[in-house]
Amino acid sequence: MGEHVMPTYHRADEVFVAGDGAVLRTAEGREFLDFLGGIAVSALGHAHPVLVEALRDQVGRALHVSNLYHHPLAEPVAAMLAEATGLDTVFFCNSGAEAVETALKIARKHHHLRGEAGRTGFAALCGGFHGRTAGALSVTHKPEYRAPFGPLLEGVTFVQPEDSIGLETALAQRPAALILEPIQGEGGIRALSADFLRLARAACDATGTVLIHDEVQSGCGRTGTFLAAQAAGVQPDLVTLAKPLAAGLPIGVVVARPELRRVLAPGDHGSTFGGGPLACRAALVLLQALRDGLLDDVRARGAQLQRGLTGLAAEFDAITEVRGRGLMLGLQIPNKAAELHGALHARGLLANCTAGDVVRFLPPFVISEAQVATGLDRIHDALTTLSDD
Ligand code: PLP
Repeated sequence: MGEHVMPTYHRADEVFVAGDGAVLRTAEGREFLDFLGGIAVSALGHAHPVLVEALRDQVGRALHVSNLYHHPLAEPVAAMLAEATGLDTVFFCNSGAEAVETALKIARKHHHLRGEAGRTGFAALCGGFHGRTAGALSVTHKPEYRAPFGPLLEGVTFVQPEDSIGLETALAQRPAALILEPIQGEGGIRALSADFLRLARAACDATGTVLIHDEVQSGCGRTGTFLAAQAAGVQPDLVTLAKPLAAGLPIGVVVARPELRRVLAPGDHGSTFGGGPLACRAALVLLQALRDGLLDDVRARGAQLQRGLTGLAAEFDAITEVRGRGLMLGLQIPNKAAELHGALHARGLLANCTAGDVVRFLPPFVISEAQVATGLDRIHDALTTLSDD
């Protein structure tokens, strides 16, 4: 391809021009089974007829009106998000990192309003990933990601997942917020235990720390509940959502509990494109589909894929763990994840390699039973070709 796009990603050679459900097609007509969903984005797969129709209709009405005026779609999306999360109010932006930035700002201003303006630090988890903008990068753990871009936000303490004493020590320093992913995505599909999530909630309550759950990757139904943390019965003060929410269009949101709804006043924060009609129209389609039974499909297909992967782990010693829930799953395969990823790609299955030793699967929520079975066959076939060393 050309040379005018900055080389910030390693891209495969294929040029994808179209798709249908969980299948993507190249310019030459080669078909790939999409077990990656554009990295957890394409919840409705490709060219979903209801989404296509809704967006066609919306393009013919208004693409953008600015946040200086109302349009009829933002409030219904916000109301559906409030209901699905059990929280209250929504700030709209355009990406996961922007949602995280917003959550960090809300946390700091919350303390500012309460007369604790010095309460500006953050606690975050080792292995956590929250995005590449300055604030989000500051609470992202991987030192290589942060090192070239300092100085970042001061006062960030990283705690090991499941280290309850480390967490209590960090919160005793009275940070503005604790941010965590209930299931770490980029960190290798690592689920926090329900006990640790509950302990984090209790420790935040005890210290007045704002609890931010970053569910940009795990949220919007991907794990079989609308929020992954709902499986543990834990509610955050703020939750960030993005990737699948508009089924392929850029969107990010922070959903806040009632006490935080007025923390950001006019002039404190904003987003030119945030909550525009097109992204909101797409989000309405996704949220309605989840209400109409898509969550059941995620659970069924997730269980099928997890069963299949667990069977492969029993057959192939190279696999050390099957991780995740719903349609957010990973195979830990030390020293061989990149090789397996390559073998899958060669067999027409899109996945990706994360945290060095995990092959990650984030398929569309609409993937069929037959497609999951075909994907498992391809994974089996690819595993038989791995080198012995
Ligand atoms: N938070 C989490 C948990 C993510 O997985 C990601 C992206 O992978 C982000 C934040 C950043 O989202 P974006 O790439 O949309 O800025």
